[in-house]
Amino acid sequence: MDAYKQLAELIFPDIQESLEDLEKKYPPRNLKEGAQVTRFAPSPTGFLHTGSLFTAMVAKKTAKDSGGLFYLRLEDTDTKREISGSGEQLISQLAEFGVTLDEGYLGDRDIGHYGPYRQSKRAYIYKTVIKYLIENNLAYPCFCSSEELDVLRKMQEAQKVVPGYYGRYATCRYLSAEEAIAKIKNGASYVIRFRSSGDHLRKTVIKDLIRGEISIAENDIDIVILKSDGLPTYHFAHVVDDHFMHTTVVTRGEEWISSLPIHIEIFNALGWQAPGYAHLPLIMKMENGSKRKLSKRKDQEAAVSYFIEDGYPPRAVMAYLMSIANSNFEEWTEENKMYDIDKFTFNLNKMSLDGALFDLDKLTFFAKEVIARMSAHRLASLSKKWAINYSPELLDLINRGAEYYEEILNIEREKENPRKDFAKYSDIYSHIRFFYHDHYLNLVSDVLPFNERIDRSKISNFLKDFIIENDYSQDNDSWFTSLKAIALKSGFANNNKEYKANLDKFVGHIGDAAEILRISLTGSKNSPNLWAILKVLGKDEVDLRLKYIIEKLS
Ligand code: GLU
Repeated sequence: MDAYKQLAELIFPDIQESLEDLEKKYPPRNLKEGAQVTRFAPSPTGFLHTGSLFTAMVAKKTAKDSGGLFYLRLEDTDTKREISGSGEQLISQLAEFGVTLDEGYLGDRDIGHYGPYRQSKRAYIYKTVIKYLIENNLAYPCFCSSEELDVLRKMQEAQKVVPGYYGRYATCRYLSAEEAIAKIKNGASYVIRFRSSGDHLRKTVIKDLIRGEISIAENDIDIVILKSDGLPTYHFAHVVDDHFMHTTVVTRGEEWISSLPIHIEIFNALGWQAPGYAHLPLIMKMENGSKRKLSKRKDQEAAVSYFIEDGYPPRAVMAYLMSIANSNFEEWTEENKMYDIDKFTFNLNKMSLDGALFDLDKLTFFAKEVIARMSAHRLASLSKKWAINYSPELLDLINRGAEYYEEILNIEREKENPRKDFAKYSDIYSHIRFFYHDHYLNLVSDVLPFNERIDRSKISNFLKDFIIENDYSQDNDSWFTSLKAIALKSGFANNNKEYKANLDKFVGHIGDAAEILRISLTGSKNSPNLWAILKVLGKDEVDLRLKYIIEKLS
């Protein structure tokens, strides 16, 4: 046996499979020409970041639009940063936003033939590949301690040379296989490094699916591929996984561009074809006139849980993210008012490159559109689901009667130009609480915003007339005509022009009368359509409220 084989055997006595065995175990996928295989590869280190949801959305769309497949792989090799339970949480948050998986790690189980889909369960695969690399002198054990590496770094800084474990500074790359074997037999601890053949003074041209060709310095660092805990590093693990899982397009944040030469070098060393790489722009935020990355620490909208807790409809959040991904999406929505990103043809080539600014106003716009187009029944059911988790006060109102709640939500809905009061479920409560008697009483307990120029007694007279004369069976238009008649009787002009021409003759105009009614029934100058409110409240409740106001004014 040659010395490298002996070294590999000494390090991995348990690994008996070959690369060919692995290739057989994970054969090419049987997909139609042009179908893309994409993946989302989060680390279980905390909540789902808005930028990660963006990446997952792009990956899924790239797969789906091409008739391909989208899977999830959990990159859990950094055991120190792992937060227990966050893997499951990521899956359930993705599902809330409709990002479902064809294959992969599903929280409690894996589905698919290319697993395991958790890197911590794939050690034997990585070791098989590393054993091959050592046998072929493409990787080697490094015995340098962290103190020695510190000394090296300081020395490099003092000499003003590029820091890192490379070339002549990579002392262990010069150990013979026999020397390495002797050290291991002596019990020395070690990591495994990849033997780079690059030169940082040379440039390599790499194709990015969004940016086109990028010219970038070659890698020459002998990076660690297997840590002393027996787990691989990201650079190496993702290469192995994307190869054996047959990923065709890697979508990931642009922060990975600088390490792309490392990844390409490993693919080449193994004789594997690298997938296409699409490095996505980061989502930015404007602060004091300059752009910065959306920050986990500073920005609540950096975590998708913010949108869930505040009750934004997931469809709106996804539409918003799609508008960042492809600038033609917004134009498309003008004809596609359901904001269903599944129906939109996404194009990696249309991705804008300058980091998109997070724009809450635009999200609000999309969210109002999305909610306005839901049926009252659907909105009732989605907002109830949300209220159960996040709003006891709204839930209390809903629980007083599902039908009544739905009737309220149905006001000015299911029509050509629906009302757009709500951007999120958390907006509902304050808009509708006046429909509930006890809340109404609270809302009108303060001084009411009646027009100062109208005498209180005139207000009362009008309300008294209204109680007697209002006809609840009319449609909206004829109701308004008869409201004018009631108002006229109480001394209000039929329109503003008439009133202006004869200020002394009238108490006010019809608009004033309608405002009086509105304030008396809702406590506020702003409300949905008055006729619809009367219909929902019904004569008994309306009369009760108006009598209460008359009493209050006297
Ligand atoms: N685990 C890496 C991350 O969370 C994934 C990058 C990739 O998609 O390859 O950033």
